[in-house]
Amino acid sequence: MWFDGELVDPDDARVGLTTHALHYGSGVFEGIRAYATRDGAAVFRLADHLERMRKGAALLGIAFDAAIATDAILATLRANRQRDAYVRPLAWVGAGGFGLDVADHAQHLMVATTPTTVHLGGVRTRLGVSPWRRNPARSLPPLKLCGAYVNSILAKREAKSRGYDEALFVDDDGFVVECTGANVFAVSGDRIVAIEHADALPGITRDTLVALSGAECRAMSLAELRDADEVFVCGTAAEVAPIASLEGREYGAGPVARELAALYARVVRGDAAAPSAWLTAA
Ligand code: PMP
Repeated sequence: MWFDGELVDPDDARVGLTTHALHYGSGVFEGIRAYATRDGAAVFRLADHLERMRKGAALLGIAFDAAIATDAILATLRANRQRDAYVRPLAWVGAGGFGLDVADHAQHLMVATTPTTVHLGGVRTRLGVSPWRRNPARSLPPLKLCGAYVNSILAKREAKSRGYDEALFVDDDGFVVECTGANVFAVSGDRIVAIEHADALPGITRDTLVALSGAECRAMSLAELRDADEVFVCGTAAEVAPIASLEGREYGAGPVARELAALYARVVRGDAAAPSAWLTAA
């Protein structure tokens, strides 16, 4: 792993028990993928992930340099000799006391890379509608702030307790927000909709799929989602995951999701036309 400027053996890396982020979630992370391409490992949309991370760090007052994070990520991938990998950078507030003013606390950055396991297992997922509400953007902006994920953990636990694989957040007015770690698309006839909501994370996979498919971006009610022909969710770790059912409402086999999943798989590996800035050689 990379920790504060050095490559270290994970067993040797230590942080203190008074780490501020451990108590209050005062950190920001990213979930990024590296893929084996014909020309070696490449990181998909690295600059976009680090820009989102920079925004979260800025809110917390954590100094963040995308160039340092880029070097750290590439160095970690090379050190681990990984080509297909999940990449996890985390910047956080460290020691400095239990107060909430973090201006004088220590700050840290780490990068871990792990062999990939596809979130949601790459299988057709059963969704339950969460009784929990997504963090409202006006309370907690939709960025990858560590503490925000307690909301996702509650929803995931509740959905699993009812036998579902994943939770779907809806808002008080019945509009679809997102899943615990993925954005939602619906397909009706030949129309693909990337569901938009102010409380949802602006997903980079969602943005990629909109660019590839020309999907319409708009809000959608839960009732309309139920009536869709196909539903799929997407994220860096989930990639394109077709939805089998929503609270018992079953969806068809999903030809659009299958086609987009295949196209996405080619794009991330440099096997289909895409902006060159999307792939950073490791
Ligand atoms: N929503 C949430 C809450 C997430 O954690 C993620 C995963 N980062 C996504 C959506 C999908 O975002 P991305 O495509 O950028 O990974």
